[in-house]
Amino acid sequence: MRIDIMTLFPDMCRTVLGESIIGRAQKAEKVEIVVTDIRDFAGNKHNKVDDMPYGGGMGMIMAAEPIYNCYKSLYSEGEPKPHLIYMSPKGKTLTQDKVLELSKLNRVVLLCGHYEGIDQRVIDEIVDEEISVGDYVLTGGELPALTLADAICRMLPGVLSDDICFEEESHFAGLLEYPQYTRPAEWHGKYVPEVLLSGNHAEIKKWRRKQSLLITKDRRGDMFSHFSLSDDDKKLL
Ligand code: SAM
Repeated sequence: MRIDIMTLFPDMCRTVLGESIIGRAQKAEKVEIVVTDIRDFAGNKHNKVDDMPYGGGMGMIMAAEPIYNCYKSLYSEGEPKPHLIYMSPKGKTLTQDKVLELSKLNRVVLLCGHYEGIDQRVIDEIVDEEISVGDYVLTGGELPALTLADAICRMLPGVLSDDICFEEESHFAGLLEYPQYTRPAEWHGKYVPEVLLSGNHAEIKKWRRKQSLLITKDRRGDMFSHFSLSDDDKKLL
């Protein structure tokens, strides 16, 4: 899969995505991430990419033309138009199901706004969907784009050591994950639950399932009410 990020702050994106699991995934060619500087498409000698809002008001608006030209540079004539997502607080809130859906595409382009946002006309002309990372406003779309790129990469085959890594994780199957522990078995007078030391894999599986159900019920009544409990689940509660 290829993920493009269109931004005014390319170093911010490259630095983060070059680290840890996503950095290794790129080196192993499990994913290609290309970061493009919108400013390279400013088309004027001062590299100006923003201007004052029509109608007055605070802040600056990113102009349409550099964004349009930047996007057009990412694919050639005759190639299918890559799916373009504008990271925006006005978009639909990101979910794990959406991440999974996007991870099945061959290519996505993430557009980062900055300042007061982007001229609506270019959004109307080229953007396929708008995605928000939550009901709050950040200074730019870079952190949202990094969040989405990271979440997509984890779903790609071979990025994590095993698919089980994400299949049992919070949100993948409508539940939150059970508590996890590592050595030592006793820390600050707190003990790891006995069952996890027992070596009895069937009992460990049952315990983890029960904890997952209880944690979801306790913390996320909204998720729990949509979750369909199996007969075995009902016996655990
Ligand atoms: N004036 C805009 C509004 O009220 O909707 C907010 C602009 S925000 C300061 C600048 C940029 O940050 C946006 O264009 C967007 O790309 C990004 N951004 C801010 N909050 C976001 C969020 N919750 N999810 C996704 N992107 C966000």
